[in-house]
Amino acid sequence: MHQSADILSLSRDEFSARLAAIGEKSYRAVQIIEWIYERQACSFEEMSSLPRSLRDRLAAEVPFPQLTERGRKVSSDGTVKFLFELADGQMIETVFIPTEKRSALCISSQAGCKFGCGFCASGLGGWKRNLSAGEIVAQVLRARRAVAPEKVTHIVFMGVGEPFDNYDNVLKAARLLNAADGGNIAARRITISTCGLVPGIKRLAEEGLQIELSVSLHAPNDRLRSQLMPVNKKYPLRELMPACRAYAKETNRQVTFEYILIKDLTCTPAAAAELAALMRGWLSKVNLIPYNPVAEFPYATPAREAVFAFRQELERWGVICTLRSPRGRDVGAACGQLRLGAGKRD
Ligand code: SF4
Repeated sequence: MHQSADILSLSRDEFSARLAAIGEKSYRAVQIIEWIYERQACSFEEMSSLPRSLRDRLAAEVPFPQLTERGRKVSSDGTVKFLFELADGQMIETVFIPTEKRSALCISSQAGCKFGCGFCASGLGGWKRNLSAGEIVAQVLRARRAVAPEKVTHIVFMGVGEPFDNYDNVLKAARLLNAADGGNIAARRITISTCGLVPGIKRLAEEGLQIELSVSLHAPNDRLRSQLMPVNKKYPLRELMPACRAYAKETNRQVTFEYILIKDLTCTPAAAAELAALMRGWLSKVNLIPYNPVAEFPYATPAREAVFAFRQELERWGVICTLRSPRGRDVGAACGQLRLGAGKRD
């Protein structure tokens, strides 16, 4: 057995094949996967029912991805922000966001991000590298172990990074988390959030999975959107919106659009009318997020009256929308903006 992928990047069939190659019986794969997903083992060392020689060999050849917890902050609203260091020193964030009805775990897909959205602190440091599927799955397993497995009901790819810029590893992780003998989380409870990479949306529509798609829209026209999100120059609304409508049609799933309300910029009556025109008449929903001030950016939070007026205007046009309150502000869990509403979507 030659060293390659970490254990958490492997499906059950792939892992069984690895074990068979070194003469191990197939029941060992079942046993080990049960240790990982049922008994929350985060190392082979903990798998006391395995012979010592097998544990040592597996640790050398298909090691667990290294996630060293470097910080944990618990907010007064129950939000927990984990800071993990990867084997090469890169740092990632994972945020648990509990609410009455559901509790989402917001996970990262890349170390850093290359898309530089003009309101997002996560993109400030630039892109470092993609996470492996195992490093993505490991965030879920570590957080589940910390907060109790049954508490994590939903997974949202809304942490640091653009999931479709790391498409293969993100999809592999989503399948592993969805597998009945893996993470056992229904596809409908897994959300992939994109800044609008059209090729990724088209690919996901063809996967045959009912994963929730969430799109960071944040502006109702190309002029404003290109100002806030450079990615819009490459994939403008005339390409993005048809791809989203096709996704809803193909999967029969409602597409959610994240929309940050910025004072005098995206939160105006004219913007509400433009946004309504994009949303009307198909399986879509808008998640309104009042801007959360970040020192590095020049934007301001709109007044409550302006926020309510914006929502009323959308509703007047029959657009389904929700207004989210910030979560975890006191532990800095809201720096990426998108995480604000991650735990409260219906
Ligand atoms: S909002 Fe998402 S895509 Fe944009 S810079 Fe932040 S992490 Fe990257």
